[in-house]
Amino acid sequence: MVDVEEFYSRIKVFGDLQDPVIQKVKPLFEEVIQRLPDEEQFQIEGHFIIHYRKEVIKYWKINGPSLKLLLGTLPDFTITNRDGNCAYALDDSIDHSIYYLTIVLDKLSQKSDDYIRGLFAHEFAELSFPWRVIKEHETELQKLKPLERNVRINQLTKKDAQTGTLEYQEHENLVNQEAIRLGFEKEIKELELQSGY
Ligand SMILES: [Zn+2]
Repeated sequence: MVDVEEFYSRIKVFGDLQDPVIQKVKPLFEEVIQRLPDEEQFQIEGHFIIHYRKEVIKYWKINGPSLKLLLGTLPDFTITNRDGNCAYALDDSIDHSIYYLTIVLDKLSQKSDDYIRGLFAHEFAELSFPWRVIKEHETELQKLKPLERNVRINQLTKKDAQTGTLEYQEHENLVNQEAIRLGFEKEIKELELQSGY
């Protein structure tokens, strides 16, 4: 179980906290945080971008160029109609790792609570899944140079698969399996049902 206040101390939020959709989503997000198991990957410092698509696009347009080298492929919400993304740079230790979790609010006022919980759980699993893969392959990865290391991690996690391809679907399935391991089976079923994640 993760403490909400402690969690907030590790993230920077970009969003309008007075917005009615944020107010609907916030308690669901906090519930997901609390239900996360006490594992080290959830102690990584992060940025939480939760806004309408227009603002999210603006955020990534302004901040993307300086983060590209660190994060690799950046989310492009002008071409995807998805409601979420998690971009990250993971090192061997949590102190040298960071993530950027983006949630697009536009469609969420019409979505069920389970869908919204499932969406958050999926994006946390997008962080948790590669973290666990890296730990699992630690000995192999430690022998590689930084660039080779990244290539190998992307290969193992199918991170850079193009939307719509079989490989991308495989990536999403692996992430959903991780979200289920984290305890969100019911919510992931609802997410899959409503969006084909
Ligand atoms: Zn995903």
